[in-house]
Amino acid sequence: RVYLGVEALVRWPHPQRGMVSPAQFIPLAEQTGLIETIGRWVLEQACGQLVAWASHPVRSHWTMAVNVSAREFHRADFVEQVRAVLAQTGADPYKLRLELTESMLHSDLEETVEKMGTLQAMGVRFSLDDFGTGYSSLAYLKRLPIHELKIDKSFVQDAPHDPSDGALVDAILAVAGHLRLQVVAEGVETQEQADFLNRRAAVIHQGYLFGRPEPADTLLARWSAASDATSAA
Ligand code: CA
Ligand code: CA
Repeated sequence: RVYLGVEALVRWPHPQRGMVSPAQFIPLAEQTGLIETIGRWVLEQACGQLVAWASHPVRSHWTMAVNVSAREFHRADFVEQVRAVLAQTGADPYKLRLELTESMLHSDLEETVEKMGTLQAMGVRFSLDDFGTGYSSLAYLKRLPIHELKIDKSFVQDAPHDPSDGALVDAILAVAGHLRLQVVAEGVETQEQADFLNRRAAVIHQGYLFGRPEPADTLLARWSAASDATSAA
């Protein structure tokens, strides 16, 4: 088992209410526009973490995935924001994965192509998140500089038992294979799901089977032994 990277997830430890779930505060932040400030902060934290890992023999190879909201992505200065955070933190753009969802890509395809192209030229790579749950138009897979598809967990989790979910996973793997896109299977929680995927193409696994969301420092304490052993092997 080789650890390839992490995804940045935001949590709100509230002094009175305890841990507030992102399911509660993200929709509100999106409505009010605060998501743009939160998004920028998350990107800064994530890039800062990449820099903190940059000199480590194992962790310097890890990628950092950051979820981008529609409001952030559609800002006229989105590219400049990302460029500024990279410059200010000194993070390696090749280690950064920006996760977009299908629904964000439909409005103004020309603008989307240009923004993604500019960032890609800087080294930033793009993942298509929750793939298969949106209004899929496979045409944009060809037009846009997408590096990776993340198969939504709803397909991954039922795939071993539900033939239609299994078939959808196979169809996504076939499309990705033809277009030479990397694939991440999300929400892998059981060995059975991992085995199902391992019998197919080379897929990166993400999910509770490998690690639950946790603060960066405890993650490092728990994983360093495992990943250092992997690198030595
Ligand atoms: Ca994501
Ligand atoms: Ca996802």
